[in-house]
This record gives sequence, C-alpha cells and structure tokens, in this order.
Amino acid sequence: MAGRLDGTVALVTGASSGIGEATAAALAAQGAAVAVAARREDRLLDLADRLRAEGAPGVVVHRCDVTDEEQVRRMVEQTVSELGRLDTLVNNAGVMLLGPIEGAPTEEWRRMVELNLLGLFYCTHAALPHLLASAEAEPRRVADVVNVSSVAGRVARLNSGVYNATKFGVGAFSESLRQEVTARHVRVTIVEPGATATELAFHNRQEVLEEMARNFAGIEMLHSEDIADAVVFAVTRPRHVGVNEVLVRPTEQER
Ligand code: NDP
Repeated sequence: MAGRLDGTVALVTGASSGIGEATAAALAAQGAAVAVAARREDRLLDLADRLRAEGAPGVVVHRCDVTDEEQVRRMVEQTVSELGRLDTLVNNAGVMLLGPIEGAPTEEWRRMVELNLLGLFYCTHAALPHLLASAEAEPRRVADVVNVSSVAGRVARLNSGVYNATKFGVGAFSESLRQEVTARHVRVTIVEPGATATELAFHNRQEVLEEMARNFAGIEMLHSEDIADAVVFAVTRPRHVGVNEVLVRPTEQER
C-alpha cells in the first residue's frame, strides 16, 4: 500500500529518544524519508539502522546541538542536499527542568530558553525557505511545521514557571508563524502532550523528581507512540485541512 507521505522528506529534532524517536519511525512508516537530529549520535545511528531495516526510503543522521545556529543551518542544508527537499519539520527537542523560582539555579533557565525557544526558532528559520518551496511542489503541494509544546503551554503550574514560559512561548511563536505562512500552504501545528513516559523527567534534581513522582502517582502515562500518532494525523490531512493544535493527555491526568 502506498504511504501517505511517499515522496516527502521530514526532519525531526530530538530523535535520539522518546517522542522524537517514535515520531521519526511513524513518519518513515508513512513513506517519508527522514533526517534525525540530536546530540547522541550513537542512538541516532541505531535508530537509522532500524528504520532502514523496516524499509524507510531514506535516512540521514545529524549530530546537531540545535541551540547552535550554525549547526542548525548545516543540518538543514545537508538534509536538503542528501534527501532532495524538506516537507515536514518536527521541532521536538526540549528539556523540562522544574522547581520553585525562588533560589532556582538560573543555568537551568538558560538551558530551557536556549533549547525550547531559540533552538526551535533557529530550526524553523533555517527550514522555512525549503518548506515554502515544497508547498508549491508535487506530490502534496503543502508542507508542515509541527512544534511539540506541552500541556504546560496551556496551563501554568506551581514549580513550573520557566518551563511554562518556554512552552507558552512556543504557542505564541507558532500562531504568529501560522498567520505568516498558512496562505502559502505551510501548515503550523502545535502538539501538546500530557505526561508521557520518556527520559524527559530524569534531567531534574532529586527533590524535583520526588515531587513529580507524587504528582503523577498511579497515572497510566502516555507512550511516545501516542504522540507520534497525533503528529502523523496532523501532517497526513488533505491540503485544505490545517490541524492547528492537538492536546493529548493520559485519560487519568486531571491537570
Ligand atoms: P526526551 O528527553 O526523551 O527527548 C528529548 C530529546 O531532545 C532527546 O532526543 C535529546 O537528545 C534532544 N535534545 C536535548 N537537548 C538537545 C540539543 N541541545 N540539541 C538537539 N537535541 C537535543 O523527552 P521527550 O521525548 O519527552 O521530549 C520531547 C518533547 O516533548 C520536548 O519538547 C518536551 O518538552 C515535550 N513534552 C514531553 C512530555 C512528557 O511528559 N514526556 C510532556 C509534554 C511535552 P540528545 O540528548 O541526544 O541531544
């Protein structure tokens, strides 16, 4: 059966684990050639082997720190030179460092702002000319930017101030970008996961981990594949359908 993304190319950041890894696999399963990016190259090479074995039409690995604008520019240019075009950008790389604002290690704030905001801005900026070109070309005459935000981009919570600020920022940037490019058939989608079982929480300090464990005790978390499904849904709609926002929580998550 023909894949719904045959003949297209997707670039997924943060593809060395969790939601990004599952999304790259899901897009490849729909027929997209995929470029996968993160800092842990060994994990990306394993993923690339797996995707090739599963029949992916093309896979390119980028060891890239997306907080470095020059590395981002090279990653995008190499994707286009090796895979021929760019139709779908999934801005997924992110970090969540929680805790009170009072006395916070401000280095954690810089990491979140540089990755969750600036990294996403750099990738979008570098990819946009190629996405606009693909939106005028066969096979789909439409292109997609998917920004992975969070429930934290809609609802502010105690001890999540700077993470909330970055994800609210992703929402604002995405809506402004959507208004800028949607008439030229580049669709912009924000996907807002609730609690998903990945490595994300484990970058936190011990006391924060303990609080998170209390907050989410007994909840059946989402799997990365559940979020990948939402991304695939958005980017496989017909050309005239723009899915602007998808909020996906575990059924048992109340807040
Ligand atoms: P993971 O920690 O599993 O994945 C994060 C990814 O980001 C990794 O692949 C990591 O790779 C990559 N990354 C981190 N820093 C950089 C960098 N400087 N340059 C390039 N890549 C980087 O967590 P998730 O899969 O959960 O997170 C993915 C997204 O989902 C994030 O934006 C997160 O905010 C969002 N999200 C997650 C939720 C959850 O409950 N898990 C809920 C709501 C939103 P490497 O270290 O190899 O660079």
